[in-house]
Amino acid sequence: MKYRHRWISGDRIDLPVGKVVCVGRNYAAHIQELNNPLPDDPVLFIKPATAMVNLDQSVPLPRNRGEIHHEAEVSLLIKDTLTNASEFEANQAIMAMGLGLDLTLRDLQSKQKAKGLPWEVAKAFDNSCPLSGFVAVEHVKSPESLEFSLKVNGELRQQGTTDHMLTSIPGLLSYISRHFTLLPGDIVLTGTPAGVGPLNPGDELELTMNGTFTTQTRCT
Ligand code: ZN
Repeated sequence: MKYRHRWISGDRIDLPVGKVVCVGRNYAAHIQELNNPLPDDPVLFIKPATAMVNLDQSVPLPRNRGEIHHEAEVSLLIKDTLTNASEFEANQAIMAMGLGLDLTLRDLQSKQKAKGLPWEVAKAFDNSCPLSGFVAVEHVKSPESLEFSLKVNGELRQQGTTDHMLTSIPGLLSYISRHFTLLPGDIVLTGTPAGVGPLNPGDELELTMNGTFTTQTRCT
């Protein structure tokens, strides 16, 4: 496995690579665009370490598996073990923030949903989690109202602000830690705003965390 956590400068972060815990349905406008009901609690799923790939190099898309959707999300790198953590403890355990794509095999997910089956196969496939480098949390301007966006071939597709989340970042981490222990080196993806759509080989992507960094890559 080639993925290693790294700072946005490219320097390696000395933490193990673990799991990615993802949160579905955390922005109201995205829930509406997929005709999903508003959840009572955060919807969680996990991507394994084999899903992670360095976004800055390229985004390798699977072939012949139907539509692959981009979901641009804020990523959190965890530095401490969290089990049944309070929101305060959870907030202290964030080492760094970045951006990631929760790539989704949307046709396959829709089929699984229609049958009432789990949709892990549509979310946890190899290379389904391209991640940007990370920025130390103390260098992120206002994490609680952080703006981020995704452009595809120069066109703005997704734009979000963390204060539009249904469950805030500390609330999410606290909730997750009641179900799965988070370990140093684990990542949390915090949900996607509206505007998800298909990606194709050759697409040029630009992800921006406002006031902090912009990163570009290409789908292959
Ligand atoms: Zn997502």
